[in-house]
Amino acid sequence: MRLTAHPIELHLTDPFRISRSVQHVASNVVVEVSHHGVIGLGEAAPSKYYGERSETVRAALPGFAEALGDDPFQHEEVMARLEQVLRLQPAAKAAIDMALYDLQGKLLNVPLYTLLGLNPQRTPLTSFTIGLASPAEMARKAQAASAYPIFKVKVGTQNDVENIKAIREVSQATIRVDANGGWTPKEAIRTINALAPYNIEFVEQPVIAHDLAGLKLVRENVDVPIFADESCVALEDIPRLSECVDGVVLKLMKSNGIAAVLKMIHAARACHLKIMLGCMIESSLAITAAAHLTPLVDYADLDGNLLVSDDPYRGVTVADGKLILPTGPGLGVQNARTTHTSIPID
Ligand code: MG
Repeated sequence: MRLTAHPIELHLTDPFRISRSVQHVASNVVVEVSHHGVIGLGEAAPSKYYGERSETVRAALPGFAEALGDDPFQHEEVMARLEQVLRLQPAAKAAIDMALYDLQGKLLNVPLYTLLGLNPQRTPLTSFTIGLASPAEMARKAQAASAYPIFKVKVGTQNDVENIKAIREVSQATIRVDANGGWTPKEAIRTINALAPYNIEFVEQPVIAHDLAGLKLVRENVDVPIFADESCVALEDIPRLSECVDGVVLKLMKSNGIAAVLKMIHAARACHLKIMLGCMIESSLAITAAAHLTPLVDYADLDGNLLVSDDPYRGVTVADGKLILPTGPGLGVQNARTTHTSIPID
């Protein structure tokens, strides 16, 4: 198998502000894994929070190219070899994993959901994310996004109650909130109890990632379900989180891609945890890859492609909030733009 890659820049329609950072552009990397003229596509959306940048993804690729071998169906072995080449760098590995699945589907002429044995009708609704801003601006964003039945609202500031109140005054949509670890356990308990009258479905990552005791304390002192996102990265995180939270947020980009997230989904089920599949700021390429897994999960937050103005791919669509999977082979993703030049990786 041969590997080529090219960087893509995705510009956010509005600056994307969360409790710890603000983002204007996502610098992602598209990879192409080819085998006898058939090309599988993958995308890395590196996150500084998880120790990656576009440059580190591209630096990882030559070593990965050598480890691909020549059998695209030996998925587990290829991914194990990547792990030996380089530890960490989960988004870089997710891009290769996704491209292998795309390639397998194209070689067999079946969509990825068929390859995985999943019913494409069972996709959940996706939420639409509202980043941090003033109460008036967040209410305006909620009104502009009235086509979506579920909002995921960023919190983790001193103004959370005012912000949620302003959105609630203009919308009856389901509201989930995500603090991205922005509260102390005490602040979390106080704020979540103050937000509860506004009908909050669940709270993501109220406290900093490593504070599992804090997650447990929050869960014991509020009536709104608590989900772990940044605290849940690897398979072994799942059993230890089962005593601390009600659910977990899984993402291809923090956990090495589809094959690894499949294992995490089954582990979470065994631990009676609810599951949401989330994303970074990604084009329709990586969002579609994640969407193929959603028949297995309870909730989806796959809107990274909806937040950018220059998505170069077409794949999964959203109708009244529901994810509609493409029916083409592999990921079923098409390039929506003119051609690009991919750089061979040797
Ligand atoms: Mg989150």
